[in-house]
Parts: sequence; structure tokens; C-alpha cells
Amino acid sequence: MKKLICLLLSVLLLGSLSLPAFAQGTGGEPQLIVSTENAMPGDEVAVSITIQNNPGIGVINPKFVFDSSRLQWLGYEEGGLKGWTVTEKAGVWLGNSDSSFNGVILTLRFKVLETAPEGLAEVRLVCGDGDAYNYAEELILFQLISGGVQVGEQAHQHSPGPETKENEIAPGCTRAGSYDSVVKCQDCGAEISRVTVPIQATGHQYNAPRFQWNEDHSEAAAYFICVEKDDVQELEAAVSHRTVSDGEEYTASVIFQGRQYSETRLIAADGSEKTTLQDAEVHAAVEEVSFPAGADKAPEATVEVSPEAAAEATAPAETPVTGRSLPVLPIVLICCALAALVILLIRRSRGRNAKKK
Ligand SMILES: [Zn+2]
Ligand SMILES: [Zn+2]
Repeated sequence: MKKLICLLLSVLLLGSLSLPAFAQGTGGEPQLIVSTENAMPGDEVAVSITIQNNPGIGVINPKFVFDSSRLQWLGYEEGGLKGWTVTEKAGVWLGNSDSSFNGVILTLRFKVLETAPEGLAEVRLVCGDGDAYNYAEELILFQLISGGVQVGEQAHQHSPGPETKENEIAPGCTRAGSYDSVVKCQDCGAEISRVTVPIQATGHQYNAPRFQWNEDHSEAAAYFICVEKDDVQELEAAVSHRTVSDGEEYTASVIFQGRQYSETRLIAADGSEKTTLQDAEVHAAVEEVSFPAGADKAPEATVEVSPEAAAEATAPAETPVTGRSLPVLPIVLICCALAALVILLIRRSRGRNAKKK
């Protein structure tokens, strides 16, 4: 209860909240429907607000928007939900528990101005993000169906036009977005319905890493920076070293989000350096072979990458990570393991032969 009061206060003070989990309705989309009445200038008229497919609400704070060039606010009457606080701009209802009431929740009373021109005096609700919750503090989004007062003789039945998107808020890495799905009447342009549709946060997407080496190339770390520059992941790399024909070669490897990234530094005899970055998708089978059981970090052993993959590896560090499959990787791995075994056996037998001599 205390939480809900806080919630309600923040709703009133701030007018908006971030998107939490959404309440699941039991049958159909929750709706708030404003009735359409017929009246002549000078008449008093009551417009009802009906709730349908109520999934259970604990607090609701609809705003009223009405055509003040045709209508004058007179007051309100409560319907099936008791205990409202209502002004001509908005209403607030706070229950003792979730209410699943379906039916008329409020009636708004207006006087049609003597000077009101013929046509629809629209009455619509705003009840979107942060305006209705249940006791589990789950946001409830309603489909809002507007109505109002048809002033004059010719009552007209709205004909819904195509659905359009309004108030689009693009999602971020960790922040949800939303848009309003709006349907307007093709004939008179009045808004018939409006529902706020959430858009899931995208999650971080990382660029290819930047490797940072220590002076003697014995250690390296890989930095993965989100394309939105709002997150950095630092991973300790496994470093291997070998002497090759044109110098000393150091390779740092990390596995991040199921993909292996390696940077190779070749220090030539004349002191010149050459750096190549390569990335390869880690095949599930390879992971089983090369990861020691229980290891949750990058394995000590580095995975050899085929020459084709190495040729592609000159991509600059700013390119976003893209999927590139490498089915030859397991075969290359097995070949490497076999070659290493053969070399080991040859060395051993040579050693024995030397001892014998
Ligand atoms: Zn219409
Ligand atoms: Zn991000």
C-alpha cells in the first residue's frame, strides 16, 4: 500500500515512469472506452468511461482531453469503482486491492455551449506509460477508445482509418522504447483509439575488441566497447608465443559471446611490428574440445585459425561484430593436435636414439 502511494505520487509529480514488467490480461486487451452521445447546443450531457478486459487494477490515473470550444465541464459521477478524485483535467482512483471490475467506472458531465458548432466534440483519455498499475506494480496499458458529444442533428458513425505510429521512442541498449498505435476516423479525423506499445531494449552490441599488451608481450587484455559507447567489457587474453622465420610472433586470444578474437603481433628481427586482428565464430564442438572442464574463462590453449580467416582479419577495430561461420575450424584443430602429437613422438624417439649413441 505504501509502495503504491509512493507510486501514485510519483505518477502525479513526474507524469511518467520507466517501463516495468507488463501485466498480462486474461481475455483480450484492456480497454478504456469513452461513449459517444448526441446533444444540441445548450444541452447537458453525460459521457461515460467504461473499462473492459480489466486484468486487475490497483491504481489508475487517466487524463481527460475534451473539446472546450463545444463543451463546458460540469462535474462527474462515480461508476463501479468508488473513491475517485476528479478534476476537469484528470482522475485518480486508488483501490485497497486489485479490482477486476468491468463496466462504467466514471461519468463525465458537460454542458454543450450555446455557441457550439455542429460536429463532434471529442472527449478522449490519456492513460499510458506510468498511469495504471496493479498491486504487483505491473504497468497496465489500455487501448484507449475516444468518444464525445455529437453536436447537432447528423450523428455520424466513425469509420476507422489505417493504424499509424505516433510518439515513437527508440529503445536503447538497456532502456525500453515505445510508440502509440493510433487509429483515426477517415471521415472526421477524430481519434478513435490509441494504445502505447512497448519496444524491448536492444541490449549492448559490441564492436570488435581493442587489445592492450604489456611491454614484453607476456600479457594482453581485450576491450569490447558497445556501439552506443555506454558499456565496456574487459577480458584477460590468453597469450601464446612462437618463433617464426621472420621474427617473434605473439598471439592474444579471447572468447566473447561465442566468438574468438585473436590479435597477432609479429616483432621482426629489425624491431618493426605488424599487428593483425582476427575474429572467428567458435563452433560448439570446438568449445567442447578445447575448453578444460569447469573452465569459465577463455582457455589457456589458443585455437589456430585457418589462413582464410586470417586473411579477413585486417578489418579495423571499429567495425561492428558480424556473424561469420567457420566450419573448417574443427578440422584444422584436429589436424593441429595430430601434428603436435607426431612431432612430440619424433622428438622423443630422437632423444632416445641420441642417448643410446
Ligand atoms: Zn468520424
Ligand atoms: Zn550499449
